[in-house]
Amino acid sequence: MQSELEKLVELQKTDTNIRRLKSSIESAEQRRASIEQEFEQHASSIREIQMKRDTAQAGRGDLEKQIAENKTYIDRADRNLKNAQNQKEYETAMRELDALQKQVSALETQVLERMTEVEEVEKTLAEREEEINNLESNRAEAMAVFDKELGKNKKQFGVETAKRHEVFITLPPKLASVYNRMAQRSRDGIAVAEVINGSCSACFMKLRPQMQVELKTKDEIMTCESCTRILYIAPTSAPEAIAASQES
Ligand SMILES: [Zn+2]
Repeated sequence: MQSELEKLVELQKTDTNIRRLKSSIESAEQRRASIEQEFEQHASSIREIQMKRDTAQAGRGDLEKQIAENKTYIDRADRNLKNAQNQKEYETAMRELDALQKQVSALETQVLERMTEVEEVEKTLAEREEEINNLESNRAEAMAVFDKELGKNKKQFGVETAKRHEVFITLPPKLASVYNRMAQRSRDGIAVAEVINGSCSACFMKLRPQMQVELKTKDEIMTCESCTRILYIAPTSAPEAIAASQES
Protein backbone atom coordinates (compact mmCIF):
# COMPACT_ATOMS: atom_id res chain seq x y z
CA MET A 1 0.00 0.00 0.00
CA GLN A 2 1.27 3.41 -0.97
CA SER A 3 1.17 6.13 1.66
CA GLU A 4 -0.61 9.37 0.84
CA LEU A 5 2.74 11.09 0.53
CA GLU A 6 4.00 8.48 -1.91
CA LYS A 7 0.86 8.95 -3.97
CA LEU A 8 1.38 12.71 -3.99
CA VAL A 9 4.99 12.28 -5.10
CA GLU A 10 3.88 9.99 -7.90
CA LEU A 11 1.12 12.41 -8.89
CA GLN A 12 3.61 15.24 -9.01
CA LYS A 13 6.02 13.24 -11.17
CA THR A 14 3.17 12.33 -13.51
CA ASP A 15 1.97 15.93 -13.70
CA THR A 16 5.49 17.17 -14.41
CA ASN A 17 5.70 14.66 -17.25
CA ILE A 18 2.29 15.72 -18.56
CA ARG A 19 3.37 19.34 -18.43
CA ARG A 20 6.58 18.65 -20.33
CA LEU A 21 4.78 16.53 -22.95
CA LYS A 22 2.02 19.10 -23.36
CA SER A 23 4.46 21.93 -23.95
CA SER A 24 6.42 19.79 -26.40
CA ILE A 25 3.24 18.88 -28.32
CA GLU A 26 2.01 22.47 -28.31
CA SER A 27 5.30 23.82 -29.67
CA ALA A 28 5.60 21.03 -32.27
CA GLU A 29 4.31 23.03 -35.24
CA GLN A 30 6.69 25.85 -34.49
CA ARG A 31 9.65 23.52 -34.08
CA ARG A 32 8.75 21.68 -37.25
CA ALA A 33 8.62 25.00 -39.11
CA SER A 34 12.04 25.98 -37.82
CA ILE A 35 13.55 22.68 -39.00
CA GLU A 36 11.94 23.22 -42.43
CA GLN A 37 13.25 26.76 -42.45
CA GLU A 38 16.78 25.63 -41.72
CA PHE A 39 16.70 23.22 -44.66
CA GLU A 40 15.08 25.86 -46.84
CA GLN A 41 17.95 28.23 -46.05
CA HIS A 42 20.45 25.61 -47.23
CA ALA A 43 18.41 24.95 -50.36
CA SER A 44 18.11 28.63 -51.16
CA SER A 45 21.84 29.26 -50.66
CA ILE A 46 22.53 26.40 -53.08
CA ARG A 47 20.01 27.78 -55.59
CA GLU A 48 21.72 31.15 -55.32
CA ILE A 49 25.11 29.66 -56.25
CA GLN A 50 23.60 27.68 -59.12
CA MET A 51 21.93 30.82 -60.39
CA LYS A 52 25.24 32.67 -60.25
CA ARG A 53 26.79 29.92 -62.39
CA ASP A 54 23.90 30.04 -64.88
CA THR A 55 24.12 33.83 -65.12
CA ALA A 56 27.87 33.70 -65.74
CA GLN A 57 27.41 30.99 -68.38
CA ALA A 58 24.63 32.92 -70.11
CA GLY A 59 26.80 36.05 -69.99
CA ARG A 60 29.63 34.18 -71.64
CA GLY A 61 27.32 32.91 -74.40
CA ASP A 62 26.18 36.45 -75.02
CA LEU A 63 29.75 37.70 -75.31
CA GLU A 64 30.68 34.88 -77.71
CA LYS A 65 27.76 35.88 -79.90
CA GLN A 66 28.93 39.50 -79.92
CA ILE A 67 32.45 38.38 -80.84
CA ALA A 68 31.14 36.28 -83.75
CA GLU A 69 29.10 39.22 -84.93
CA ASN A 70 32.09 41.55 -84.74
CA LYS A 71 34.18 39.06 -86.67
CA THR A 72 31.80 39.26 -89.62
CA TYR A 73 32.22 43.06 -89.48
CA ILE A 74 35.97 42.58 -89.41
CA ASP A 75 35.75 40.42 -92.53
CA ARG A 76 33.75 43.13 -94.24
CA ALA A 77 36.24 45.82 -93.13
CA ASP A 78 39.03 43.59 -94.42
CA ARG A 79 37.36 43.38 -97.82
CA ASN A 80 36.82 47.13 -97.86
CA LEU A 81 40.46 47.62 -97.07
CA LYS A 82 41.57 45.38 -99.95
CA ASN A 83 39.14 47.00 -102.34
CA ALA A 84 39.88 50.57 -101.32
CA GLN A 85 39.91 52.81 -104.36
CA ASN A 86 41.53 55.78 -102.76
CA GLN A 87 43.34 57.02 -99.67
CA LYS A 88 40.10 58.11 -97.93
CA GLU A 89 38.38 54.74 -98.35
CA TYR A 90 41.53 53.01 -97.18
CA GLU A 91 41.76 55.13 -94.02
CA THR A 92 38.09 54.66 -93.22
CA ALA A 93 38.35 50.87 -93.55
CA MET A 94 41.55 50.89 -91.51
CA ARG A 95 39.95 52.87 -88.68
CA GLU A 96 36.93 50.60 -88.70
CA LEU A 97 39.09 47.51 -88.61
CA ASP A 98 41.14 48.88 -85.76
CA ALA A 99 38.05 49.77 -83.72
CA LEU A 100 36.49 46.35 -84.31
CA GLN A 101 39.64 44.52 -83.30
CA LYS A 102 39.86 46.52 -80.08
CA GLN A 103 36.25 45.68 -79.35
CA VAL A 104 36.78 41.98 -79.97
CA SER A 105 39.82 42.03 -77.75
CA ALA A 106 37.81 43.69 -74.95
CA LEU A 107 35.03 41.14 -75.38
CA GLU A 108 37.53 38.29 -75.18
CA THR A 109 38.84 39.67 -71.91
CA GLN A 110 35.28 39.65 -70.59
CA VAL A 111 34.83 36.05 -71.74
CA LEU A 112 37.89 35.06 -69.73
CA GLU A 113 36.45 36.83 -66.68
CA ARG A 114 33.17 34.94 -67.04
CA MET A 115 35.04 31.67 -67.44
CA THR A 116 36.98 32.30 -64.22
CA GLU A 117 33.72 33.14 -62.50
CA VAL A 118 32.07 29.92 -63.71
CA GLU A 119 35.12 27.95 -62.59
CA GLU A 120 35.01 29.42 -59.09
CA VAL A 121 31.28 28.78 -58.75
CA GLU A 122 31.70 25.22 -60.01
CA LYS A 123 34.39 24.70 -57.41
CA THR A 124 32.06 25.88 -54.64
CA LEU A 125 29.33 23.58 -55.96
CA ALA A 126 31.77 20.66 -56.05
CA GLU A 127 32.81 21.35 -52.47
CA ARG A 128 29.17 21.29 -51.39
CA GLU A 129 28.22 18.37 -53.63
CA GLU A 130 27.56 15.99 -50.76
CA GLU A 131 25.42 18.52 -48.96
CA ILE A 132 23.50 19.27 -52.16
CA ASN A 133 22.95 15.61 -52.99
CA ASN A 134 21.85 14.71 -49.47
CA LEU A 135 19.78 17.77 -48.71
CA GLU A 136 16.43 16.24 -49.65
CA SER A 137 17.07 12.91 -47.95
CA ASN A 138 18.40 14.69 -44.84
CA ARG A 139 15.30 16.85 -44.74
CA ALA A 140 13.05 13.81 -45.08
CA GLU A 141 14.97 12.01 -42.37
CA ALA A 142 14.85 14.96 -39.95
CA MET A 143 11.09 15.24 -40.50
CA ALA A 144 10.59 11.51 -39.98
CA VAL A 145 12.56 11.64 -36.71
CA PHE A 146 10.55 14.66 -35.62
CA ASP A 147 7.20 13.07 -36.45
CA LYS A 148 8.18 9.84 -34.71
CA GLU A 149 9.15 11.76 -31.59
CA LEU A 150 5.92 13.75 -31.71
CA GLY A 151 3.88 10.58 -32.10
CA LYS A 152 5.68 9.04 -29.14
CA ASN A 153 5.03 12.13 -27.03
CA LYS A 154 1.34 12.16 -27.93
CA LYS A 155 1.01 8.51 -26.99
CA GLN A 156 2.93 9.07 -23.75
CA PHE A 157 0.70 12.04 -22.98
CA GLY A 158 -2.32 9.73 -23.13
CA VAL A 159 -0.61 7.17 -20.89
CA GLU A 160 0.41 9.76 -18.29
CA THR A 161 -3.01 11.39 -18.31
CA ALA A 162 -4.66 8.05 -17.58
CA LYS A 163 -2.08 7.37 -14.88
CA ARG A 164 -2.77 10.73 -13.28
CA HIS A 165 -6.45 9.95 -13.10
CA GLU A 166 -5.75 6.57 -11.51
CA VAL A 167 -3.54 8.06 -8.78
CA PHE A 168 -5.72 11.09 -8.25
CA ILE A 169 -8.93 9.18 -7.45
CA THR A 170 -7.18 7.25 -4.67
CA LEU A 171 -6.35 10.46 -2.76
CA PRO A 172 -8.64 11.75 -0.02
CA PRO A 173 -10.74 14.53 -1.66
CA LYS A 174 -9.42 17.25 0.65
CA LEU A 175 -5.79 16.41 -0.06
CA ALA A 176 -6.54 16.10 -3.77
CA SER A 177 -8.01 19.59 -3.86
CA VAL A 178 -5.10 21.02 -1.85
CA TYR A 179 -2.75 19.47 -4.40
CA ASN A 180 -4.66 20.79 -7.39
CA ARG A 181 -4.96 24.28 -5.96
CA MET A 182 -1.25 24.47 -5.25
CA ALA A 183 -0.24 22.99 -8.62
CA GLN A 184 -2.43 25.49 -10.45
CA ARG A 185 -1.20 28.40 -8.37
CA SER A 186 2.51 27.87 -8.95
CA ARG A 187 4.03 28.84 -12.26
CA ASP A 188 6.11 25.66 -12.49
CA GLY A 189 3.10 23.48 -11.60
CA ILE A 190 4.97 22.10 -8.60
CA ALA A 191 2.81 21.27 -5.55
CA VAL A 192 5.08 18.57 -4.12
CA ALA A 193 8.74 19.51 -3.75
CA GLU A 194 11.69 17.30 -3.00
CA VAL A 195 13.98 18.27 -0.16
CA ILE A 196 17.53 18.42 -1.50
CA ASN A 197 20.50 19.07 0.80
CA GLY A 198 18.11 20.16 3.54
CA SER A 199 16.38 22.78 1.40
CA CYS A 200 13.02 22.96 -0.36
CA SER A 201 13.87 22.43 -4.04
CA ALA A 202 11.03 24.72 -5.13
CA CYS A 203 11.82 27.86 -3.14
CA PHE A 204 15.33 26.94 -1.88
CA MET A 205 14.45 27.78 1.74
CA LYS A 206 16.60 25.88 4.22
CA LEU A 207 14.46 23.66 6.44
CA ARG A 208 14.76 23.79 10.24
CA PRO A 209 16.73 20.75 11.52
CA GLN A 210 13.73 19.61 13.55
CA MET A 211 11.60 19.57 10.41
CA GLN A 212 14.21 17.60 8.47
CA VAL A 213 14.21 14.95 11.19
CA GLU A 214 10.42 14.77 11.19
CA LEU A 215 10.32 14.46 7.42
CA LYS A 216 12.71 11.53 7.55
CA THR A 217 11.03 9.72 10.38
CA LYS A 218 7.31 10.49 10.11
CA ASP A 219 5.16 9.49 7.20
CA GLU A 220 3.13 12.67 7.43
CA ILE A 221 2.13 15.38 5.01
CA MET A 222 4.35 18.35 5.84
CA THR A 223 4.53 21.62 3.98
CA CYS A 224 7.32 24.12 3.35
CA GLU A 225 7.09 27.01 5.80
CA SER A 226 8.09 29.42 3.06
CA CYS A 227 6.19 28.37 -0.08
CA THR A 228 3.63 25.95 1.46
CA ARG A 229 4.43 23.18 -1.02
CA ILE A 230 4.19 19.61 0.23
CA LEU A 231 7.67 18.31 1.03
CA TYR A 232 9.28 14.87 0.68
CA ILE A 233 12.70 13.33 0.86
CA ALA A 234 13.46 10.95 -1.99
CA PRO A 235 14.65 7.50 -0.87
CA THR A 236 17.73 7.77 -3.11
CA SER A 237 19.00 10.79 -1.20
CA ALA A 238 19.30 8.64 1.92
CA PRO A 239 22.89 8.58 3.29
CA GLU A 240 23.48 4.92 2.28
CA ALA A 241 22.57 5.63 -1.34
CA ILE A 242 24.84 8.67 -1.46
CA ALA A 243 27.70 6.68 0.06
CA ALA A 244 27.12 3.89 -2.47
CA SER A 245 27.13 6.29 -5.41
CA GLN A 246 30.34 7.90 -4.19
CA GLU A 247 32.09 4.54 -3.90
CA SER A 248 31.55 3.62 -7.54
ZN1 LIG B 1 9.47 25.91 -0.33
